[in-house]
Amino acid sequence: MADLTSLTSSAYSQALEVIASVEPRIAEATRKELADQRSSLKLIASENYASPAVLLTMGTWFSDKYAEGTVGHRFYAGCQNVDTVETIAAEHARELFGAEYAYVQPHSGIDANLVAFWSILAHRVESPALEKLGARGVNELTDVDWETLRHELGNQRLLGMSLDAGGHLTHGFRPNISGKMFHQQQYGTDPVTGLLDYDVVAAKAREFKPLILVAGYSAYPRRVDFAKMREIADEVGATLMVDMAHFAGLVAGKVFTGDEDPVPHAHVVTSTTHKSLRGPRGGIVLATEEYAPSVDRGCPMVLGGPLSHVMAAKAVAFAEARQDSFKTYAQQVADNAKSLAEGFMKRGAKLVTDGTDNHIVLVDVSGFGLTGRQAESALLDAGIVTNRNSVPADPNGAWYTSGVRLGTPALTTRGFGHDEFDNVAELIVHVLQNAEAGTTKAGGPSKASYLLPDGLADKVKAASAEMLDKHPLYPGLELT
Ligand code: PLP
Repeated sequence: MADLTSLTSSAYSQALEVIASVEPRIAEATRKELADQRSSLKLIASENYASPAVLLTMGTWFSDKYAEGTVGHRFYAGCQNVDTVETIAAEHARELFGAEYAYVQPHSGIDANLVAFWSILAHRVESPALEKLGARGVNELTDVDWETLRHELGNQRLLGMSLDAGGHLTHGFRPNISGKMFHQQQYGTDPVTGLLDYDVVAAKAREFKPLILVAGYSAYPRRVDFAKMREIADEVGATLMVDMAHFAGLVAGKVFTGDEDPVPHAHVVTSTTHKSLRGPRGGIVLATEEYAPSVDRGCPMVLGGPLSHVMAAKAVAFAEARQDSFKTYAQQVADNAKSLAEGFMKRGAKLVTDGTDNHIVLVDVSGFGLTGRQAESALLDAGIVTNRNSVPADPNGAWYTSGVRLGTPALTTRGFGHDEFDNVAELIVHVLQNAEAGTTKAGGPSKASYLLPDGLADKVKAASAEMLDKHPLYPGLELT
């Protein structure tokens, strides 16, 4: 048998030829995307590089199959192979995370959260109401009872972490559906340390009495004590939902164990599969037996037909994450984040929470006289891909921001270690120290434009290229 790398090279080369025969511009953009990803320092905390096995699994005829329903209980005929795929993916997910139940159909993290919200509402609000009324389903309700139930479903309380403290917009942010369908309140972080204060969360929960307490984050550079969160939820009768979209890889790789592993503590855990977990773009919901039947109603509650080709790729990614090498990878992700954080701090940069103990580093760029938007753009010019992010109580709001969020999962996949991440910190500090805030057309201070000294971007790119060449993306993969 030919070796896997040359098989992958010919698989992609041939696939691109087939695509080019129909729409050459798409084949070209696909080639260019690989070249761009290979030649930039990818530090977006929510991105990674899935393996060729995961990527190839997505490009099959499973994409053509409708399979609404659940395994063995589909609304379409001919789903026997989708049943196989979904069963294997769910088995791997349960084993990987030690979960009682896994639902692998959500198309994305937001979908997973919607499934979770509605299954908690179905379990805690709809089912008891139906039981009280002696109805087997909502179709049996009178119009009056249905209106009463709809009103109740739409008026429950949710407490989640605020966006500028690092929460996600689906955790009750007003412009998101979660902020509109729930009465929501948010908890933040300590204004001095930037850390979660569990006493403050508990006090808010006691006062607000949420139906759902959401834990989890997109931009909080620290670990969370989920045992404490569960205690808080239990005290006020809330369902604890943890969104581990960002750190699922660290849970799978057993970097987060005990109180830091959400699965034994939460009633419902949601995740994406494409961030630190390094799978295909998608979502999952893990649940206790108690919540499993309502989670299983994700379709038709909020989902349509599952993406069977992506469920297949989830199964492959979970199988990869169950290998010992994934544990080594996950630990390296966390170690590298520490190296990156130390690299910044020793060069005088300010970090939110003064460090990290997960995969995220949040740099407060206001000390460089820049907004997050200016810093993000200047870094991109120099071939360093990051994203701007609010810092707690951000004076520049969610658009311009005062922070830049960095993550280590992607470059760790490429094989970067301590020394490279220290170099990355040096390059970033160099760019930020030399970038200057620009002016608006009218001559006033601008939050968007910036100036970089001539030649600086090219010098940084050359220094990055040396590291990137040592750690190629998809080594040996050559497109013809
Ligand atoms: N939850 C968290 C914590 C996230 O960080 C994200 C994505 O950034 C999501 C959910 C949404 O994931 P997706 O983009 O797959 O919908």
